[in-house]
Amino acid sequence: MELRRPLVVGNWKMNRVPSDASVLLDGLRERLAKVSNVSVVVCPPFVILPAAAAAMDKTSIAVGAQNMHHETNGAFTGEISPNMLRDLYVTHVILGHSERRTHFHETLGEINKKVQAALKYGLTPILCVGETWAEREKGNQEEVVRRQIVSALKGVSSDLVSQVVIAYEPVWAIGTGKTATPEIAQDMHSEIRSILWEICDESVARNACIIYGGSVKAANAAELLAQPDIDGGLVGGASLDAEEFFEIVSCAEREYVGPAAPIFGEGPDFQSQQ
Ligand code: PEP
Repeated sequence: MELRRPLVVGNWKMNRVPSDASVLLDGLRERLAKVSNVSVVVCPPFVILPAAAAAMDKTSIAVGAQNMHHETNGAFTGEISPNMLRDLYVTHVILGHSERRTHFHETLGEINKKVQAALKYGLTPILCVGETWAEREKGNQEEVVRRQIVSALKGVSSDLVSQVVIAYEPVWAIGTGKTATPEIAQDMHSEIRSILWEICDESVARNACIIYGGSVKAANAAELLAQPDIDGGLVGGASLDAEEFFEIVSCAEREYVGPAAPIFGEGPDFQSQQ
């Protein structure tokens, strides 16, 4: 199994139009050409995917989508399928983003189908999980994240789970300017490894790529990315500025601790409870 390496993903959300996207795409390509130890994925809106794939051709920068339908084809007006994405040289897909769960009422069952469909077509799912502020205030954050992960990965073999990127994005930190403290983020990332150990095995847990999202900027990236269980970032607003995004990727290159850290000294919580 491949050891994990840092990953930074830019989620453009519903921003930019095809005719003005080349400025940002060219800016990203030029700056990121110098980066070799961090995997980078750029996720523009669907209509910019062909231009993004062309701009990043023959570079190490991958292109991802922000959503997809789980079916291959058929009467699903307005939807985009995994094989359509593959045909555009897309390699990653963000699934279960909180904006999709909230505004488009995506259910746990639908997200599970999307994860399975993405894996079937060789796309890397970037599975977003995270609690709301109300859930954290009640102390339910771990239970919420556990439920989201267990249901999204239901029926997925350990081999395939190891290909899923998990993005911990506390809903209260997305687009709000409120970043989780490095301690809050590290605690949840460590908990996510425990959950993966419980549903798969130690090797999957240890090698899983778990990234943090929620108001990540150049100014706060270093302290987050220096945490032993944080493998990178899912960056929204700050990914629309090539220089700022490049700074975040550079932080990942400098600060990454990764699997060298002694994470599993005591094993996951579930084991001590048995
Ligand atoms: C996101 O879109 O996943 C995100 C984390 O957004 P922002 O960085 O703007 O909070």
